[in-house]
Amino acid sequence: MFDGKAAIRSLLPEELEAELKALGEPSYRAKQVFSWLSRGAESFDGMSNLPKQLREKLKDRYYLAAPEVLRKQVSAHDGTVKYLWGLSDGNAVETVVMQYHHGNTVCISTQVGCRQGCAFCASTIGGLVRQLEPCEMLEEVMFSEKDSGLKISNIVLMGIGEPLDNFDNVIKFLRLVNCPEGMDIGMRHISLSTCGITERFDKLAALNLQLTLSVSLHAPDDETRSRIMPANRGRGVSALMDECERYYRQTGRRISFEYAMIDGVNDSDAQAKLLAQHAKRISAHVNLIPLNHVDESRLRPTPPERLRRFKELLEREGVNVTVRRSLGGDIDASCGQLRKKAAAGRA
Ligand code: SAH
Repeated sequence: MFDGKAAIRSLLPEELEAELKALGEPSYRAKQVFSWLSRGAESFDGMSNLPKQLREKLKDRYYLAAPEVLRKQVSAHDGTVKYLWGLSDGNAVETVVMQYHHGNTVCISTQVGCRQGCAFCASTIGGLVRQLEPCEMLEEVMFSEKDSGLKISNIVLMGIGEPLDNFDNVIKFLRLVNCPEGMDIGMRHISLSTCGITERFDKLAALNLQLTLSVSLHAPDDETRSRIMPANRGRGVSALMDECERYYRQTGRRISFEYAMIDGVNDSDAQAKLLAQHAKRISAHVNLIPLNHVDESRLRPTPPERLRRFKELLEREGVNVTVRRSLGGDIDASCGQLRKKAAAGRA
Protein backbone atom coordinates (compact mmCIF):
# COMPACT_ATOMS: atom_id res chain seq x y z
CA MET A 1 0.00 0.00 0.00
CA PHE A 2 1.19 3.47 -0.87
CA ASP A 3 -0.78 6.46 0.46
CA GLY A 4 -3.60 4.02 1.22
CA LYS A 5 -3.70 2.88 -2.42
CA ALA A 6 -2.79 -0.52 -3.85
CA ALA A 7 0.29 -0.66 -6.10
CA ILE A 8 -1.04 -1.42 -9.57
CA ARG A 9 2.32 -2.59 -10.91
CA SER A 10 2.31 -5.40 -8.32
CA LEU A 11 -0.71 -7.01 -10.01
CA LEU A 12 -0.40 -10.04 -12.31
CA PRO A 13 -2.42 -9.89 -15.57
CA GLU A 14 -5.15 -12.16 -14.17
CA GLU A 15 -5.40 -10.07 -10.99
CA LEU A 16 -5.62 -6.88 -13.01
CA GLU A 17 -8.33 -8.42 -15.15
CA ALA A 18 -10.36 -9.34 -12.06
CA GLU A 19 -9.95 -5.85 -10.59
CA LEU A 20 -11.02 -4.16 -13.82
CA LYS A 21 -13.91 -6.55 -14.22
CA ALA A 22 -15.11 -5.48 -10.77
CA LEU A 23 -15.02 -1.91 -12.09
CA GLY A 24 -17.23 -3.01 -14.98
CA GLU A 25 -14.49 -3.02 -17.62
CA PRO A 26 -14.05 -5.57 -20.42
CA SER A 27 -11.02 -7.86 -20.32
CA TYR A 28 -9.16 -6.16 -23.18
CA ARG A 29 -8.81 -3.09 -20.95
CA ALA A 30 -6.70 -5.13 -18.50
CA LYS A 31 -4.40 -6.09 -21.36
CA GLN A 32 -4.03 -2.47 -22.38
CA VAL A 33 -3.25 -1.37 -18.83
CA PHE A 34 -0.78 -4.24 -18.25
CA SER A 35 0.99 -3.31 -21.45
CA TRP A 36 1.40 0.30 -20.30
CA LEU A 37 2.62 -0.83 -16.89
CA SER A 38 5.16 -3.24 -18.43
CA ARG A 39 6.50 -0.50 -20.67
CA GLY A 40 7.30 1.62 -17.63
CA ALA A 41 4.33 4.02 -17.58
CA GLU A 42 4.88 6.52 -14.80
CA SER A 43 1.32 7.88 -14.54
CA PHE A 44 -2.22 7.01 -15.59
CA ASP A 45 -2.55 10.21 -17.59
CA GLY A 46 -0.17 8.91 -20.24
CA MET A 47 -2.33 5.83 -20.97
CA SER A 48 -3.73 7.44 -24.07
CA ASN A 49 -5.89 4.55 -25.33
CA LEU A 50 -7.97 4.46 -22.12
CA PRO A 51 -11.10 6.59 -21.66
CA LYS A 52 -10.48 9.53 -19.35
CA GLN A 53 -13.14 8.27 -16.95
CA LEU A 54 -11.29 4.97 -16.50
CA ARG A 55 -7.99 6.74 -15.96
CA GLU A 56 -9.63 8.77 -13.19
CA LYS A 57 -11.08 5.63 -11.59
CA LEU A 58 -7.64 4.00 -11.66
CA LYS A 59 -6.01 7.10 -10.21
CA ASP A 60 -8.44 7.06 -7.28
CA ARG A 61 -7.77 3.44 -6.46
CA TYR A 62 -4.20 2.67 -7.37
CA TYR A 63 -0.70 3.92 -6.86
CA LEU A 64 1.66 4.28 -9.80
CA ALA A 65 5.04 5.99 -9.94
CA ALA A 66 8.64 5.44 -10.95
CA PRO A 67 11.64 5.37 -8.64
CA GLU A 68 13.87 8.42 -8.86
CA VAL A 69 17.54 8.22 -9.87
CA LEU A 70 19.26 9.66 -6.80
CA ARG A 71 22.66 8.71 -8.06
CA LYS A 72 24.07 6.94 -11.09
CA GLN A 73 27.64 5.77 -11.55
CA VAL A 74 29.10 4.30 -14.70
CA SER A 75 32.34 2.33 -14.55
CA ALA A 76 34.99 3.66 -16.90
CA HIS A 77 36.55 0.17 -17.01
CA ASP A 78 33.70 -2.13 -17.97
CA GLY A 79 30.50 -0.11 -18.42
CA THR A 80 28.90 -1.42 -15.24
CA VAL A 81 26.11 0.96 -14.21
CA LYS A 82 25.06 1.42 -10.63
CA TYR A 83 21.88 3.15 -9.51
CA LEU A 84 20.78 4.49 -6.18
CA TRP A 85 16.98 4.57 -6.52
CA GLY A 86 14.87 6.84 -4.36
CA LEU A 87 11.62 5.12 -3.32
CA SER A 88 8.28 6.82 -2.66
CA ASP A 89 8.77 6.89 1.12
CA GLY A 90 12.23 8.46 1.00
CA ASN A 91 14.16 5.20 1.37
CA ALA A 92 16.79 4.19 -1.18
CA VAL A 93 18.06 0.93 -2.67
CA GLU A 94 20.80 -0.03 -5.10
CA THR A 95 20.68 -1.82 -8.44
CA VAL A 96 23.66 -2.74 -10.62
CA VAL A 97 23.66 -3.53 -14.35
CA MET A 98 26.64 -5.62 -15.50
CA GLN A 99 27.57 -6.40 -19.08
CA TYR A 100 28.67 -10.00 -19.43
CA HIS A 101 29.40 -11.94 -22.63
CA HIS A 102 26.29 -14.05 -22.01
CA GLY A 103 24.07 -10.96 -21.72
CA ASN A 104 23.32 -8.01 -19.49
CA THR A 105 22.64 -8.94 -15.88
CA VAL A 106 20.85 -6.81 -13.34
CA CYS A 107 21.56 -7.28 -9.65
CA ILE A 108 18.58 -6.13 -7.60
CA SER A 109 17.87 -5.41 -3.95
CA THR A 110 15.04 -7.26 -2.22
CA GLN A 111 14.80 -5.32 1.06
CA VAL A 112 15.72 -1.86 2.36
CA GLY A 113 18.62 -2.91 4.58
CA CYS A 114 19.04 -6.43 5.93
CA ARG A 115 18.78 -8.16 9.29
CA GLN A 116 21.23 -11.02 8.66
CA GLY A 117 24.31 -9.29 10.03
CA CYS A 118 27.05 -10.91 7.88
CA ALA A 119 30.42 -9.55 9.03
CA PHE A 120 31.72 -8.76 5.53
CA CYS A 121 28.60 -7.13 4.09
CA ALA A 122 27.85 -3.40 3.87
CA SER A 123 24.09 -3.86 3.39
CA THR A 124 23.46 -5.05 6.89
CA ILE A 125 25.10 -2.24 8.82
CA GLY A 126 21.89 -0.28 9.58
CA GLY A 127 19.71 -3.41 10.00
CA LEU A 128 16.43 -4.04 8.20
CA VAL A 129 14.35 -0.94 7.44
CA ARG A 130 11.48 -2.51 5.48
CA GLN A 131 10.51 -5.09 2.87
CA LEU A 132 10.42 -4.15 -0.80
CA GLU A 133 7.08 -4.55 -2.58
CA PRO A 134 6.87 -6.73 -5.73
CA CYS A 135 6.45 -3.63 -7.93
CA GLU A 136 9.52 -1.99 -6.40
CA MET A 137 11.71 -4.97 -7.38
CA LEU A 138 10.12 -5.03 -10.83
CA GLU A 139 10.77 -1.31 -11.19
CA GLU A 140 14.46 -1.82 -10.33
CA VAL A 141 14.72 -4.08 -13.40
CA MET A 142 12.42 -2.04 -15.63
CA PHE A 143 13.86 1.40 -14.98
CA SER A 144 17.48 0.22 -14.95
CA GLU A 145 16.86 -1.17 -18.42
CA LYS A 146 15.04 1.97 -19.53
CA ASP A 147 17.60 4.43 -18.17
CA SER A 148 20.74 2.53 -19.17
CA GLY A 149 19.45 1.45 -22.57
CA LEU A 150 20.90 -2.00 -21.83
CA LYS A 151 18.47 -4.82 -22.61
CA ILE A 152 18.33 -7.04 -19.53
CA SER A 153 18.45 -10.79 -20.05
CA ASN A 154 19.48 -12.06 -16.60
CA ILE A 155 18.56 -11.18 -13.03
CA VAL A 156 20.41 -11.96 -9.83
CA LEU A 157 18.80 -11.34 -6.44
CA MET A 158 22.13 -10.45 -4.89
CA GLY A 159 21.74 -6.79 -3.99
CA ILE A 160 20.69 -5.42 -0.60
CA GLY A 161 18.54 -7.77 1.50
CA GLU A 162 17.79 -11.44 2.04
CA PRO A 163 15.23 -12.64 -0.57
CA LEU A 164 13.94 -15.54 1.55
CA ASP A 165 13.23 -13.08 4.37
CA ASN A 166 10.76 -11.34 2.01
CA PHE A 167 9.42 -14.58 0.55
CA ASP A 168 5.92 -13.75 -0.71
CA ASN A 169 6.88 -10.42 -2.28
CA VAL A 170 9.92 -11.96 -3.96
CA ILE A 171 7.86 -14.80 -5.45
CA LYS A 172 5.27 -12.34 -6.70
CA PHE A 173 8.04 -10.26 -8.28
CA LEU A 174 9.45 -13.38 -10.00
CA ARG A 175 6.03 -14.16 -11.46
CA LEU A 176 5.63 -10.57 -12.65
CA VAL A 177 9.03 -10.32 -14.32
CA ASN A 178 8.51 -13.75 -15.88
CA CYS A 179 5.14 -12.80 -17.45
CA PRO A 180 5.15 -13.35 -21.23
CA GLU A 181 3.02 -10.18 -21.62
CA GLY A 182 5.49 -8.28 -19.45
CA MET A 183 9.30 -8.29 -19.25
CA ASP A 184 9.28 -12.00 -20.08
CA ILE A 185 12.56 -12.91 -18.38
CA GLY A 186 12.85 -16.70 -18.13
CA MET A 187 13.24 -18.31 -14.72
CA ARG A 188 16.37 -20.07 -15.99
CA HIS A 189 17.90 -16.62 -16.33
CA ILE A 190 17.25 -15.76 -12.68
CA SER A 191 19.40 -16.55 -9.62
CA LEU A 192 18.14 -16.20 -6.09
CA SER A 193 20.88 -15.89 -3.48
CA THR A 194 20.36 -16.71 0.20
CA CYS A 195 22.45 -16.80 3.35
CA GLY A 196 20.63 -20.07 4.09
CA ILE A 197 17.14 -19.47 5.51
CA THR A 198 16.56 -23.22 5.37
CA GLU A 199 13.00 -23.06 6.75
CA ARG A 200 11.95 -21.65 3.36
CA PHE A 201 13.74 -24.16 1.11
CA ASP A 202 10.85 -26.64 1.01
CA LYS A 203 8.35 -23.92 0.19
CA LEU A 204 10.60 -22.67 -2.61
CA ALA A 205 11.22 -26.18 -3.97
CA ALA A 206 7.47 -26.87 -3.98
CA LEU A 207 6.91 -23.96 -6.37
CA ASN A 208 9.11 -25.77 -8.86
CA LEU A 209 10.46 -22.60 -10.41
CA GLN A 210 13.32 -23.19 -12.79
CA LEU A 211 15.53 -20.55 -11.19
CA THR A 212 19.03 -21.12 -9.80
CA LEU A 213 19.39 -21.18 -6.04
CA SER A 214 22.70 -19.71 -4.84
CA VAL A 215 23.68 -20.38 -1.27
CA SER A 216 26.11 -17.92 0.32
CA LEU A 217 28.23 -20.48 2.11
CA HIS A 218 31.46 -18.56 2.74
CA ALA A 219 32.74 -21.16 5.23
CA PRO A 220 32.49 -24.96 5.31
CA ASP A 221 32.75 -25.35 9.11
CA ASP A 222 30.44 -24.13 11.87
CA GLU A 223 33.07 -22.30 13.89
CA THR A 224 34.01 -20.00 11.01
CA ARG A 225 30.56 -19.72 9.46
CA SER A 226 28.83 -18.81 12.72
CA ARG A 227 31.50 -16.19 13.35
CA ILE A 228 31.03 -14.37 10.04
CA MET A 229 27.36 -15.25 9.37
CA PRO A 230 24.95 -15.05 12.32
CA ALA A 231 22.36 -16.88 10.16
CA ASN A 232 24.42 -20.03 10.74
CA ARG A 233 23.94 -19.95 14.50
CA GLY A 234 21.16 -22.32 15.50
CA ARG A 235 21.07 -23.84 12.01
CA GLY A 236 24.56 -25.16 11.31
CA VAL A 237 26.41 -26.22 8.18
CA SER A 238 25.40 -29.86 8.41
CA ALA A 239 21.66 -29.03 8.52
CA LEU A 240 22.18 -26.53 5.70
CA MET A 241 23.79 -29.24 3.57
CA ASP A 242 20.91 -31.63 4.32
CA GLU A 243 18.42 -28.99 3.18
CA CYS A 244 20.48 -28.26 0.06
CA GLU A 245 20.45 -31.95 -0.78
CA ARG A 246 16.67 -32.12 -0.28
CA TYR A 247 16.20 -29.09 -2.50
CA TYR A 248 18.42 -30.59 -5.20
CA ARG A 249 16.53 -33.90 -5.09
CA GLN A 250 13.14 -32.20 -5.17
CA THR A 251 13.91 -29.78 -8.00
CA GLY A 252 16.70 -31.45 -9.96
CA ARG A 253 18.32 -28.01 -10.09
CA ARG A 254 21.98 -27.73 -9.14
CA ILE A 255 22.79 -25.30 -6.36
CA SER A 256 25.60 -22.76 -6.54
CA PHE A 257 27.74 -22.02 -3.49
CA GLU A 258 28.96 -18.45 -3.18
CA TYR A 259 32.26 -18.24 -1.36
CA ALA A 260 33.87 -14.83 -0.66
CA MET A 261 37.56 -15.39 -0.04
CA ILE A 262 38.63 -13.74 3.24
CA ASP A 263 42.30 -13.60 4.19
CA GLY A 264 43.14 -16.00 7.03
CA VAL A 265 39.47 -16.70 7.79
CA ASN A 266 38.07 -19.18 5.27
CA ASP A 267 40.94 -19.82 2.83
CA SER A 268 42.97 -22.67 4.39
CA ASP A 269 43.75 -25.97 2.66
CA ALA A 270 41.65 -27.82 5.22
CA GLN A 271 38.68 -25.55 4.46
CA ALA A 272 39.11 -26.14 0.72
CA LYS A 273 38.93 -29.91 1.34
CA LEU A 274 35.84 -29.64 3.53
CA LEU A 275 34.18 -27.31 1.02
CA ALA A 276 34.94 -29.85 -1.73
CA GLN A 277 33.18 -32.57 0.29
CA HIS A 278 30.06 -30.45 0.68
CA ALA A 279 30.03 -29.46 -3.00
CA LYS A 280 30.57 -33.00 -4.30
CA ARG A 281 27.75 -34.39 -2.19
CA ILE A 282 25.19 -32.39 -4.18
CA SER A 283 27.16 -31.63 -7.39
CA ALA A 284 27.14 -27.97 -6.46
CA HIS A 285 28.98 -25.36 -8.46
CA VAL A 286 31.38 -23.23 -6.38
CA ASN A 287 31.75 -19.55 -7.19
CA LEU A 288 34.78 -18.02 -5.48
CA ILE A 289 34.45 -14.26 -4.99
CA PRO A 290 37.39 -12.00 -4.22
CA LEU A 291 36.16 -10.15 -1.09
CA ASN A 292 35.08 -6.60 -1.81
CA HIS A 293 36.49 -4.01 0.49
CA VAL A 294 34.02 -2.55 3.02
CA ASP A 295 35.27 0.48 4.99
CA GLU A 296 33.73 -0.59 8.30
CA SER A 297 35.23 -4.08 8.20
CA ARG A 298 38.69 -5.26 9.15
CA LEU A 299 38.36 -8.34 6.94
CA ARG A 300 40.77 -8.42 4.00
CA PRO A 301 40.63 -10.25 0.66
CA THR A 302 42.64 -13.43 0.23
CA PRO A 303 45.85 -12.68 -1.72
CA PRO A 304 45.64 -13.80 -5.40
CA GLU A 305 48.27 -16.53 -4.95
CA ARG A 306 46.28 -18.19 -2.15
CA LEU A 307 43.03 -17.84 -4.08
CA ARG A 308 44.64 -19.68 -7.00
CA ARG A 309 45.79 -22.49 -4.70
CA PHE A 310 42.36 -22.76 -3.07
CA LYS A 311 40.77 -23.04 -6.50
CA GLU A 312 43.31 -25.69 -7.56
CA LEU A 313 42.60 -27.77 -4.46
CA LEU A 314 38.89 -27.73 -5.30
CA GLU A 315 39.56 -28.65 -8.92
CA ARG A 316 41.82 -31.49 -7.86
CA GLU A 317 38.88 -32.84 -5.84
CA GLY A 318 36.75 -32.71 -8.99
CA VAL A 319 34.64 -29.69 -8.01
CA ASN A 320 33.15 -27.42 -10.64
CA VAL A 321 34.61 -24.05 -9.62
CA THR A 322 34.83 -20.53 -11.06
CA VAL A 323 36.24 -17.24 -9.80
CA ARG A 324 33.83 -14.38 -10.19
CA ARG A 325 35.15 -11.62 -12.40
CA SER A 326 35.04 -8.40 -10.47
CA LEU A 327 33.12 -5.66 -12.29
CA GLY A 328 32.60 -2.03 -11.36
CA GLY A 329 35.50 -1.90 -8.91
CA ASP A 330 35.86 1.86 -9.53
CA ILE A 331 32.23 2.66 -8.62
CA ASP A 332 31.53 1.03 -5.24
CA ALA A 333 29.58 -1.64 -7.11
CA SER A 334 29.40 -4.15 -4.29
CA CYS A 335 26.08 -4.09 -2.55
CA GLY A 336 25.17 -1.65 0.14
CA GLN A 337 28.09 0.70 -0.29
CA LEU A 338 26.38 3.47 -2.23
CA ARG A 339 23.28 3.59 -0.03
CA LYS A 340 25.46 3.70 3.07
CA LYS A 341 27.64 6.53 1.72
CA ALA A 342 24.61 8.53 0.57
CA ALA A 343 23.08 8.19 4.03
CA ALA A 344 26.31 9.47 5.53
CA GLY A 345 26.30 12.40 3.10
CA ARG A 346 29.40 11.24 1.25
CA ALA A 347 27.94 10.23 -2.11
N1 SAH B 1 21.20 -12.08 1.40
C1 SAH B 1 21.50 -12.83 0.22
C2 SAH B 1 21.68 -11.99 -1.03
C3 SAH B 1 22.41 -10.68 -0.93
S1 SAH B 1 24.16 -10.69 -0.77
C4 SAH B 1 22.70 -13.71 0.45
O1 SAH B 1 23.25 -13.70 1.55
O2 SAH B 1 23.05 -14.45 -0.44
C5 SAH B 1 24.75 -11.24 -2.34
C6 SAH B 1 26.08 -11.93 -2.25
O3 SAH B 1 27.15 -11.00 -2.02
C7 SAH B 1 26.17 -12.94 -1.13
O4 SAH B 1 26.83 -14.09 -1.55
C8 SAH B 1 26.97 -12.18 -0.11
O5 SAH B 1 27.50 -13.02 0.84
C9 SAH B 1 27.98 -11.48 -0.98
N2 SAH B 1 28.71 -10.39 -0.36
C10 SAH B 1 28.28 -9.50 0.56
N3 SAH B 1 29.26 -8.65 0.92
C11 SAH B 1 30.34 -9.00 0.21
C12 SAH B 1 31.69 -8.49 0.13
N4 SAH B 1 32.11 -7.48 0.87
N5 SAH B 1 32.53 -9.12 -0.74
C13 SAH B 1 32.11 -10.16 -1.50
N6 SAH B 1 30.88 -10.67 -1.47
C14 SAH B 1 30.00 -10.12 -0.62
